[in-house]
Amino acid sequence: MKLKDKVAIIFGGTSGIGEATAKAYANEGARVIVVGRDEEDGDRIVGEIKGNGGEALFAKADVTKAAEIKAVVDKTIEAFGHIDILYNGAGIHDSYKTAVEIEEDEYDKLMAVNLKGPYLATKAVLPHFVEQGSGTIVNVGSQATHVAGPGGSAYVTSKHALEGFTKQLAYDFGGEGIKSNLIAPGFIKTPMTEGIEDERLKDIPAKRAGKPEEVAALAVFLASEDSNYMNGSTVTMDGGWVVGR
Ligand code: NAP
Repeated sequence: MKLKDKVAIIFGGTSGIGEATAKAYANEGARVIVVGRDEEDGDRIVGEIKGNGGEALFAKADVTKAAEIKAVVDKTIEAFGHIDILYNGAGIHDSYKTAVEIEEDEYDKLMAVNLKGPYLATKAVLPHFVEQGSGTIVNVGSQATHVAGPGGSAYVTSKHALEGFTKQLAYDFGGEGIKSNLIAPGFIKTPMTEGIEDERLKDIPAKRAGKPEEVAALAVFLASEDSNYMNGSTVTMDGGWVVGR
């Protein structure tokens, strides 16, 4: 029970890696707020967590909207009294579009979800962390944090930038008991990667896609006290993919 009595907000908790993370946090004793736009998935996941003896709530929110994020934070405080862990996992892909191919509105939308979303959520949660003198932020980057190719122009830019955001958070708030780290998953089998598995697997030394649960185990480590001396770090979990590129 590495997260016993902790309260975690999981943005992007309604699918894939975030869903697995919400369940893993709950299994470790955390009370979790599963956040996303899809109510049906949110309710299903909360039901599964409760069925396993865990505590969870769904909060519907679009991460590009500050008012909806604030409502999530207010709901969390109202239900559980405090917040210990912020997981910024909401993200969308750009179908490998180049800077010429991607339209301005698609570019803006991707940046709003992948980059501005984590900023808005962090801005809403940080005052609570600062007040209590502790808190953990887990941001979700990608292999696209390290190299070009796993996405297109907007996706790769957003995931590189998220690493800078994570480092600056560590720099600005590390002295206040707040740690911020980034997970850089490789190719993980989720709805986001459906249909592109075969082509990409041959480049991965592990010769298989990762499982959401494997990334979730890393997210547990980064949320737990076991990683208390880590701050501003990027941790890669990619079956060795990036070393061969
Ligand atoms: P996924 O199954 O498609 O899940 C994406 C999540 O983001 C969903 O919970 C979705 O919730 C949420 N989301 C998207 N737009 C949102 C918005 N505007 N407001 C609120 N929530 C929004 O994808 P995944 O593969 O698990 O990816 C999760 C994270 O890991 C992403 O940041 C992704 O870039 C990163 N990642 C994935 C891989 C991979 O191979 N799968 C590799 C590296 C990094 P709703 O639809 O309910 O809103």
